[in-house]
Amino acid sequence: MSNHYDLVIVGGGLVGGSLACALRDTGLRIAIIEKVPASAAIQPSYDERVIALSHGSRRIFTGMGLWSAIAPEAEPIRRIHISDRGHAGFAHLSAEEEGVDSLGEVVPARAMGAAIEQALAEHPRIDWLRPGRIVALNLNAEQARLEVMLPDGHRSLSASLVVAADGGDSSLRERLGIPLRDRDYGQQAIISTVLAEQAPARTRGTAFERFTRSGPLAMLPMTQGRYSVVWTAWEREAPGILALDDQAFVARLQQRFGQRLGRLTQPARRFAYPLRLRLARQITRERFALIGNAAHTLHPVAGQGFNLGLRDVAELTDLLVEAQSTAADPGGVALLKAYQRRRRADHLATAGLTDGLVRLFGLPCPHAQLGRNLGLVGLDLLPPLRHRLARRFMGLEGRLPRLARGLPPVSSAFLRWADSSSEETP
Ligand SMILES: Cc1cc2nc3c(=O)[nH]c(=O)nc-3n(C[C@H](O)[C@H](O)[C@H](O)COP(=O)(O)OP(=O)(O)OC[C@H]3O[C@@H](n4cnc5c(N)ncnc54)[C@H](O)[C@@H]3O)c2cc1C
Repeated sequence: MSNHYDLVIVGGGLVGGSLACALRDTGLRIAIIEKVPASAAIQPSYDERVIALSHGSRRIFTGMGLWSAIAPEAEPIRRIHISDRGHAGFAHLSAEEEGVDSLGEVVPARAMGAAIEQALAEHPRIDWLRPGRIVALNLNAEQARLEVMLPDGHRSLSASLVVAADGGDSSLRERLGIPLRDRDYGQQAIISTVLAEQAPARTRGTAFERFTRSGPLAMLPMTQGRYSVVWTAWEREAPGILALDDQAFVARLQQRFGQRLGRLTQPARRFAYPLRLRLARQITRERFALIGNAAHTLHPVAGQGFNLGLRDVAELTDLLVEAQSTAADPGGVALLKAYQRRRRADHLATAGLTDGLVRLFGLPCPHAQLGRNLGLVGLDLLPPLRHRLARRFMGLEGRLPRLARGLPPVSSAFLRWADSSSEETP
């Protein structure tokens, strides 16, 4: 078997796996190098996290042909309620006002992981190399060369393009010395799920983002009346919260969130994630691109990180399909320049929005509190402003690649043409 691939994806988590899925029927030969074995009890990307997927991301999964496998575990978000704890101001975004059936969907990461794995299982043009570890990487104008350590020994590969989807601590980004903007928020996100068994009917489908002195607290609606909790706490507070027993945890949560969802019960296990902002200053090198958390790791406020990574996937897919249809080099300078140009503004705007929210709502001074309240009241009273914000949360701003319009990456006319030309090939 040839050791040359059109594309090598390093990191087969939510974003790397999605890129492989998007390209699985394009005819490209793809390898995925993943450090965790297929049989691992916990895949670090498909863990207990519950993800708020934007409306645009749902379209991307639809275009990839995966939405029908994910939908049974998805709960639609019909409204978003934003408030500042202890103050009167609040704002609402609503699907009805935006003319869509939902602003987004809440989905366990595990459900997306299962759909991705199923779509890639035994695919003839995709090789999983796992558990795999890159021991050498050499990029040059002609091709990328990689040495991979696998359970049965070393393997040498070459590729037209290497995409690093190896997460926030990306070892490839580090190996290539790509500089970062890096901010440690000094906070941790504690996640769990709870049951809101007596939630008033009017709160059905409402996601709550409540800003508190130690950071935002999100409650996201899930199937079967459960809510996903993303509780941001200062690093010094987090161990104490994690050590609480179920009853004490729910009592603290209820005190922080209030009574909008009635009595909260049956908390699931708690997990904590340290929070940082990491933004790579460049997202391409010769025959190399960064996507997902490897390019941008954000604070989970407003649930933007994976949605931003999926938009990287959609754009890179468009560029790779376009290159293929014109017989252009899939790792060439033109493609990489276009990727950098098309993704940079979205990365900066989304990172700026999440970082700005964390800092604005984290300021304790009375002027900031007043400003926040006026801001929330203003947002609630000004439909054009609300509409703008809703479009950004829904991931529908700017130029939309094919997948982000809910279309398959390759048109059916092109597939028919490709099939007929391969039959003609002797
Ligand atoms: C508490 C919390 C809540 C969140 N909520 C939301 C939300 O509601 N909405 C949203 O859009 N985003 C959310 N996010 C962000 C989202 O989880 C991430 O953006 C997303 O998981 C990034 O996926 P990724 O595939 O880029 O990276 P990861 O999920 O980090 O996956 C990286 C993959 O690469 C593999 N890997 C790592 N190193 C190597 C290596 N050297 N070689 C080979 N493989 C390697 C790993 O095993 C893993 O499979 C949240 C994040 C947190 C922490």
